[in-house]
Amino acid sequence: MEKISRPFSYIRYDHIDSLDPKDHALLQQARRATSLAYAPYSKFRVGAALQLSNGIIVSGANQENASFPAGICAERVALSTVSSQYPGCKIEAMALSYDNKAGESDHPVSPCGICRQSLAEWEQRQSFPIKIILGGLTGEIYIIEFASLLLPLAFSAGDMTV
Ligand SMILES: [Zn+2]
Repeated sequence: MEKISRPFSYIRYDHIDSLDPKDHALLQQARRATSLAYAPYSKFRVGAALQLSNGIIVSGANQENASFPAGICAERVALSTVSSQYPGCKIEAMALSYDNKAGESDHPVSPCGICRQSLAEWEQRQSFPIKIILGGLTGEIYIIEFASLLLPLAFSAGDMTV
């Protein structure tokens, strides 16, 4: 028997103004993208902003539906936009923010499990790390070096080979 530990670390900043200019701009775009959410049920408006290798920033926001499983998270809205509008373009970083109409938006929140799976596969496909920047509309910021750190032992295409 062997107990295996995998380290997890992230960088914490007290305030958005401590970020480097590129990360600052990306998080601001994610904050603005929260206004594009359709979230009449949860009132939890999420915004994602992806920095592409061609310099373009792609935004996404969560889109809910009365049939709840039909809804989609901000992260996967943005990822799908990159697939369809900028095929072959690498994603260098993703910022994620939220505007909680039912409460505070003063601390970072992380992608849900499905989005972690999507981000991990995207990172694997492009063979390039995706930096993750997490922050609310106010408060501290977390930066995670690359997306797949969020999903240890992720299921991947390699698991299906024989
Ligand atoms: Zn999600």
